[in-house]
Amino acid sequence: MLEKIRQVERVFKQLDKETLKFSKQSSLKCLTNCNLCCMKKGLEANVLEFLPLAWYLVKNNLHEEALDLLETNPEYCINLAKTQIQGVTAGCSVYNHRGLICRLFGSSGVRDKHGKLSVYTCTHMKAEFPEAFKQSMERINSGMNIPVVTDFYYQIYYIDPQMANDYNPINVSIRKAIEKVAYYCANKPVRKPKAKQNLQQQNDA
Ligand code: SF4
Ligand code: SF4
Repeated sequence: MLEKIRQVERVFKQLDKETLKFSKQSSLKCLTNCNLCCMKKGLEANVLEFLPLAWYLVKNNLHEEALDLLETNPEYCINLAKTQIQGVTAGCSVYNHRGLICRLFGSSGVRDKHGKLSVYTCTHMKAEFPEAFKQSMERINSGMNIPVVTDFYYQIYYIDPQMANDYNPINVSIRKAIEKVAYYCANKPVRKPKAKQNLQQQNDA
């Protein structure tokens, strides 16, 4: 389990590097304080992409609180900041531990059946940065690097195909990931300190 979490985190790290580079080169970036894509109806994710978040919550003993919140069937992702500022949600409360979909949307590319790339982004960014968007669409098809959605989904698929294929509404996947990690932590074998192990072996001999 731990190794899988580390592997997913390594994929995220690589993706973050590539999206940052693309953002700088393209001048496309999210609108200030925007989180409209997090509030999209029917937002889905797989269980694997939320293992790092689950690990963070369990390690910090925040998972029970998260599970209680999930029990209330909230309309949006539970990680949209619980506090609201003037009736507006204040953003992702677990930004460093967000899922793959959260990292990809806005600054990545998708291929059509002819292999042509398009920027995978929202109408708000297109409207705010029309020229940057137009130029990016051209440049990504003539050599500019952009992280490609399917490449990153393949990478995590090979870490654990079953969890990577377990798609659900985002909160269901978060709950499943928390349950898996909490179960793992509650049942993982406790390693005895070396000195004790040696003593035990001498006594057993
Ligand atoms: S991708 Fe678009 S909708 Fe989502 S946060 Fe960025 S600007 Fe907002
Ligand atoms: S984890 Fe964060 S970025 Fe992802 S959908 Fe939820 S609130 Fe948005």
